Order: sequence, then C-alpha cells, then structure tokens
Amino acid sequence: MQNKTTGYALEDLDLLLTDANIATMDSTIDAPYGAIENAALAIKNGEIVWLGEQSNLPSFDAFATPTLSIKGQWITPGLIDCHTHLIFAGSRAEEFEQRLQGVSYEQIAAQGGGIASTVKATRAADHEQLFVDAKDRLNTLLAEGVTTAEIKSGYGLDVENEIKILEVARLLNEHHPIDIKTTFLGAHALPPEYKGRADEYIDLVCTQMLEQVVANNLADAVDVFCENVGFSLAQTKQVFDAATKHNLPVKCHAEQLSNQQGAQLVAEYKGLSADHIEYLDENGVKAMAEAGTVAVLLPGAFYFLRETQLPPIDLLQKYNVPIAIASDFNPGTSPLCSVHLMMNMACTLFRLTPEQALAGVTRNAAQALGLKDRGVLKVGARADIAHWQIGHPAQLSYQFGVNKLLNLWILGRIN
Ligand SMILES: [Zn+2]
Repeated sequence: MQNKTTGYALEDLDLLLTDANIATMDSTIDAPYGAIENAALAIKNGEIVWLGEQSNLPSFDAFATPTLSIKGQWITPGLIDCHTHLIFAGSRAEEFEQRLQGVSYEQIAAQGGGIASTVKATRAADHEQLFVDAKDRLNTLLAEGVTTAEIKSGYGLDVENEIKILEVARLLNEHHPIDIKTTFLGAHALPPEYKGRADEYIDLVCTQMLEQVVANNLADAVDVFCENVGFSLAQTKQVFDAATKHNLPVKCHAEQLSNQQGAQLVAEYKGLSADHIEYLDENGVKAMAEAGTVAVLLPGAFYFLRETQLPPIDLLQKYNVPIAIASDFNPGTSPLCSVHLMMNMACTLFRLTPEQALAGVTRNAAQALGLKDRGVLKVGARADIAHWQIGHPAQLSYQFGVNKLLNLWILGRIN
C-alpha cells in the first residue's frame, strides 16, 4: 500500500499503536503534556519511527503489521526514576519504631544504628543476596511503569564493597528489563573506621576507589553528599575534580539540610543535577539555570523526615530550571519504592502541577541522567512507552494505590 498523496509508506513495522491519546511530553508541541489526541505511533527496531494524528498516518502494510488499539486511552513515555539507592541489605524498621517510641537519633547511632547499620549489613551481603533484594524492588518500579532507573552505590564505603554494589547494578541491567544507569557515591557517608579522618577517606574515594570503578566501567556518573553532616564543599570539589579527570559527569546531594553552596559547585562543573535542594538560594538557582543543571526534587525524603523547608519552586520556575522528581528510595530517609507516590507528593507537598510532575519523571528525569534518547515520545526516541487506563494524564499524579498501567514497552518489547 502506498499513500497516494506523498508516496511515503511505513515499512516493516514491529508494532503500530492506534486510537491513542499521546502525552508526548515534548515541550516543542504547544499543548498541555505535549498531547496529540486521536493519534497513532509506529515502532521499528526499538525506536519510534512515526507518531502524529491518526488521520495523517502514512500507508502501511495492514496484513504484516501487528496493531494494537489503545481505545482512546493514554500513552506516555515510560517513567524514569533518576535517583535511587536501591541496592542495600538489612532493614531499618526497628529503628523507625524506636524513633517513634522516643529514642533519639544520637542513642540509635550509639547503638550502631542509622546508616552504619545499613553499611554493616551491605558489606556482609554477597552479590546474590543484594541482586535478589534489588530485583524485587525493581519489579515494584516496573509494575508501575518505570522503564529507566538510576542506582547509586554508597553503602559499601570501601573499595571492595563499593565495587560490589556497582557490579550488582550492572548485573541487574543485564538481567532486568528496566534500563539501569549507575552512579558512584563513595562520598555518601564517612565509614566508621575513618572517624575523624574525612580527608583521608576522600583521598581513598578519589584515587583507588574511583580508579577501580573507572577501570571496570562501573559508573555512568559520580555523586557526593555535600552537607554539614556529610562532606564539605572543598571535599566535594576534590571528588568532582577526580571525576572530571576520568570524564565522568557529576551530580550532588545538595542543600538538603543547610545551604552549603553545593548546587553552585555542581553547576560550575556543568553537572547533571543537584538533588534535594530545599535550602537552595537564588544565586544557586541562577548558576544551575546557566549550566543546564537539573533540579531533582525528592519529596519522599522531605515527607519521611517531616521537613518544613520547601525547595525554592518559584525561583526554579522563574529561571526555567528543569525539575525532575525521584523516589530517593533508600532504607533510612525514603523507604518508599514508588514513583507514583512521588508524583502525588510533588503536587501535594511541593505544589507542582500534575503536568510538571509527569515531566519530572519523564523528560526532565532523562536530562538529569544525561539521556537524550528517552523521556519524550518523538520520532527517533527509544520506544519506552507506558499505556494507561486513564481518561486524563492528571490521573497519574492525582491517584495513588490503584495501578492503571495496562501495557509497558521497553525498546519496543512488551513487558
Ligand atoms: Zn539520595
């Protein structure tokens, strides 16, 4: 079959989706959600090769093309969780209970609780145990439409165990349908054996640890927890310099509990993202805007820690800084394995619109990972597509706990 007006035909398609409303999230389309209604989308070799109003669909071989009608429901880009710590062992549930029974953080820390307990359990776990636990968590994300996730190291805090965590992340990428990007976060916390010797530990992170990570191609980016209870600005800079030397992009846990100017620093390095940023000021926002650094908001940690300082949403919008949303899934401060819950919290706690929340887990989340091939449905993008039983895309942020996912394609393959 040939289209008579153009002579252009779609050939050898792997799948054609018809009768769809598409929230493309393409900011060049002048409609809320970049929406195209009554649309079709064609997939070939894992990529989108055509999309648009169905009335404009070029001719195609109707006998040879598998076709699925979306029946007037919605498709969106597959969701992206751009900030997680989902490889860890142990649980902090007892600590959670103790806290609610009135035991202080100091007492818990003195008993070896807090992050030290997660580090101890993670060091004791082998590859297989970490793999199995993390796979379950990824399955939870997959079931709610996640097609790309980032995983950070940071519970090993020595050469052998940081490498182990990143190796497990790479193994998960091979054996799990979700596409996984890894971030080396050796500078997450000071391990107990380095107490009082933070500079020495940072030297280890920047030399042996990072060198082995790079030699084994285990990381796509490097992150630092820059905070008065984490690492100083000077130590953060040292890690960023080392990462830059190895051509790895940087990102930063910044301005979560106080303003340490971490976001400004990450912007100086043209970093991918500054994450948390509750205490970010206008200069930091401007620096991020100029550098193209994404603001990653983590409402789960804000909620779980019962914080009150809101991130500077108005300033981020004033300077057009792209805003991403992520789960920050981790056992201590955000044991919440759900991107949909984060979308809802981004709206209720941070007052984002549902459209901004969806952009935060698609287009802007992709940018926070330096990925140009996803997060938007357009020709040439990966066919990472979620099909939802919904009448309007705001429903994805509005409702929580009722799973509306009908189909999920990753690189054009159904999951
Ligand atoms: Zn984090």
